[in-house]
This record gives sequence, structure tokens and C-alpha cells, in this order.
Amino acid sequence: MTTHYDMIAIGAGSGGLSAVERASEYGKKCAVIEVKTIGGTCVNVGCVPKKVMWFAANTATQINSAKGFGFDVDLKSFSWKKLKKGRDNYINGITTWYDGYLEDLGIDYIHGFGKLVDKNTVAVDGKQYTADHIVLSPGGEPFVPPIKGSEQGITSDGFFELEELPEKVAVIGGGYIGVELAGVLNALGSKVELFEMADTLLTGFDSTIQNTLIKDYTNHGIEIHTDTQIQSITSNKVIHTNKGEFGEFDTIIWAVGRKPMTQDLGLDDAGIVYNKHGFIPTDKFQVTNIDNVFALGDATGRTPLTPVAIAAGRRLSDRLYNNMSDRHLNYDNIATVVFSHPPIGTIGLTEDEANKKFDKVKIYKSEFTPMSDALLDHKTTTALKLVCAGDDEKVVGCHIMGHGADEMLQGFAVAIKMGATKEQFDNTVAIHPSSAEELVTMR
Ligand SMILES: Cc1cc2nc3c(=O)[nH]c(=O)nc-3n(C[C@H](O)[C@H](O)[C@H](O)COP(=O)(O)OP(=O)(O)OC[C@H]3O[C@@H](n4cnc5c(N)ncnc54)[C@H](O)[C@@H]3O)c2cc1C
Repeated sequence: MTTHYDMIAIGAGSGGLSAVERASEYGKKCAVIEVKTIGGTCVNVGCVPKKVMWFAANTATQINSAKGFGFDVDLKSFSWKKLKKGRDNYINGITTWYDGYLEDLGIDYIHGFGKLVDKNTVAVDGKQYTADHIVLSPGGEPFVPPIKGSEQGITSDGFFELEELPEKVAVIGGGYIGVELAGVLNALGSKVELFEMADTLLTGFDSTIQNTLIKDYTNHGIEIHTDTQIQSITSNKVIHTNKGEFGEFDTIIWAVGRKPMTQDLGLDDAGIVYNKHGFIPTDKFQVTNIDNVFALGDATGRTPLTPVAIAAGRRLSDRLYNNMSDRHLNYDNIATVVFSHPPIGTIGLTEDEANKKFDKVKIYKSEFTPMSDALLDHKTTTALKLVCAGDDEKVVGCHIMGHGADEMLQGFAVAIKMGATKEQFDNTVAIHPSSAEELVTMR
């Protein structure tokens, strides 16, 4: 006996949940299948616990900053255990809430590993479920390279299981996850070394952001090793590289990328095309090569961010069940934040990308010590860049590193998505004193 649905999503993370949630609002019968914990990466081992740790790290920084403003405070102790317990409780609260929420919406939650049998059928623990529409939203998991001793390291998942603050840490990988974890650990008191095989951190970001980040992280005690290829790790956690040996470390964290969880999904059985890395390509409507099977989120290999997976899932259900035949996600101009210390906000083209794409590019930039740090011993840098193109100087890129960049960017993202020009930025009266005002006063 099989149970038939309008829509089944495999993976109850940001993408899968958003698709079935929206479909159920249109009265459709839906199920979502999850092998680990409801909420997926973002809620359990991604954005949410990461941001809690970032808040904790910021608090440590602010306690140190208080001295500059005349407060006689010393950081007496810090309990990682208490922080972890509070964080875990907070996340348990979210996942428990989901159970009731799905029930209220009438969505069936099936716990187990979902495997495609054919284009309309999914098997979970020997039971089969069929659907008119199947959404593949299995997300990804951390990648660990197959080098000698790699098992000596943990991944971002293991970071969230740490019971103690490690004293000496190697973070391998200078992408956004490596940069974020390095910043948190450094602010909370670990001695951190960051290894990256490229010649800079955050490859793909604007050069102003890369250079400012390296300068600030170095000034705040993080040892950065770029152009460094990891060759092996010994059992005492010494790292061997093309540039010599480093360590011993207490903890080594791999942050060298993520791979899609598509290996055992039954893609071949259902005839779904995937690429050599396991990502499932789709058209702009999230349709795979099979017209009733869709893919969303990190497993598609496109812009791996929670709001992207959510937006794609909601739009898919709007299109399928609410007569919005052209509804789809436009992947251009998606704003993103790196929760470094201080944070980075970025949208649109880098200076290099704009120069390749347009004949006429004008760059506006500014770099300064923010007023909030003026009285402090340990100052940070605020760096801002606007990338403008064409005779009308349309703003095609905006890159910010500095306190408040995370909250600052969202509003500017609306303007940039609407096609704002530099003149329109300039016509906006500044908010003073703030760092954001620089973006509407740059010359
Ligand atoms: C450390 C870290 C920090 C991050 N920080 C941010 C951030 O600050 N902002 C941001 O926007 N994004 C962030 N992300 C990225 C974000 O978490 C992902 O982009 C988002 O979760 C992708 O959603 P998804 O639905 O594609 O997959 P996921 O959220 O990964 O959900 C997929 C789910 O499918 C399940 N699954 C897989 N295969 C099967 C199967 N066969 N059967 C049943 N279940 C299955 C998995 O267990 C998982 O729960 C972060 C990620 C990490 C790792």
C-alpha cells in the first residue's frame, strides 16, 4: 500500500520545508522526509548556532572595548559549556516548534532516509510514498579531503559539538565558514591559525574585502597562512604543508567546502541528471531533467544560502499551485553576509567582474576607523566600495566590511535590486553620525 501526495520533499531543511509549507497553504497534501533533524543545516549546524557563537564572540570583544570608554571591567571567566548548553536549548526549542507547526499545516513528517524509486515514488525504510511532484532538497555536508591523517580534524558539524574552548586551533579553509569560525574562536580566546591554499581569503569576493579582512584578522592575532597546501596531518595534530610543519594543535577544523548529499538518493533509478560533483542542475523554474521532479537549495550548487533555498521553494509552490506561471527566483543580486569580526556584507559584482562585463566602470571607495573604535586600543577598519557601471553609473556592486555591515546591507540591497544609480544614492540625505552614511556621500 502506498500513500499518495501532491508534493513530497526529500530533506526538511530550508528549501524542502519552505516548498511544502507554501504548497500546504494552497490546500495541497504534502509530506517531508528527513533523515537527521528537522530544520536542516541552517537550524542545527549552520546559520543559527553560528550566529549565537558570533553574538558571544562580539560580547567578548565589547567587554574588552569597554575599557576604552572608561569602564573598569575585566573578563574574569567565560564558560563555553554554559554557552553551548544555552545554544543547544535554543535550537531544541526551534526544532520542537517545527513539529507542532507541520502538524498544524497538515504536513506529514516522515523520519528516515528517502530514496527515489522512480520519478513519482520515494521509499523510506521499506515503505513507499508517491507524489505528483517530488522536490529534492537534501542539502550538503562538509567535505574532508582524502589526505593522510585527515581524520585528525573535525568539521563545522564537529565545531558545534565541542565541549571546551580549544586553546590552539587550526582552521583549514579560508572560505566564509572558515573565516567565521576563526573569528569566533579568536574572539573567545583560542590561539587561531588559518590555512588557505589560494593567495587570499574569501576567494571570489571583492579585493577590498579580502585585503581588509586579512589586515584586520592579522592585527587581532589570527595567524594567516595563504598559498598553503595541506599535505598530511600526524596523530599529534601537526600539519604538514608545502610551507613546512605547523602545530601541534588541540583542534583542527576542516572548512574546505561542502558536497551535496545526493550519492544515495536514487537519482539514477529515477533518471535524474546530476553533474560530476553530485549537484543537480535545474532550469530557472527549479525543474530537473524530469518535469515533475524539482531540486532546491544547496544540492543544486547555486548560491548556497538559506534565504535562497527558501525563496526558491516558495516560488516553486506558488507556480505549481497558485497559477503564477512565471514565478521563479532570479539569482542575480543576492546579498550575503560573512559573520566575521567585524562582519562583511556584499552584493552584486566585484570590481574585477564589473571590469570584465562593462566598458565603463567607476569605483567609489572609502576606508576609515569607525567612530565606535576611536577610543579603543584595538581598532578595526571599515571599508566600503561601490562599483558603478555605464554612463548613468548604475550601482552594480556594493561591498562593506565593518561594524554593522550585516544589518546595513539589507536596505541597500533593495535599492540595488531596483537598479539604483550613484546619483540616486547621492540624493539620499545621510544619517549622521554613522558608517552607513559613507555609502551616500562617497566622491
Ligand atoms: C557552518 C555554516 C554556517 C552557515 N551560515 C549561513 C548563514 O549565516 N546564512 C545563510 O544564509 N546560510 C548559511 N549557511 C548555509 C545554509 O545552512 C544552507 O544554504 C541551507 O541550509 C541550505 O538549505 P537546503 O534546504 O538546501 O539544505 P539543508 O538545510 O542542508 O537541508 C537538507 C536536509 O536534508 C536531509 N537529507 C539529506 N538527504 C536526505 C535523504 N535522502 N532523506 C531524508 N533526508 C535527507 C539532511 O539531513 C538535511 O537536514 C551555513 C552553513 C553552514 C554549514
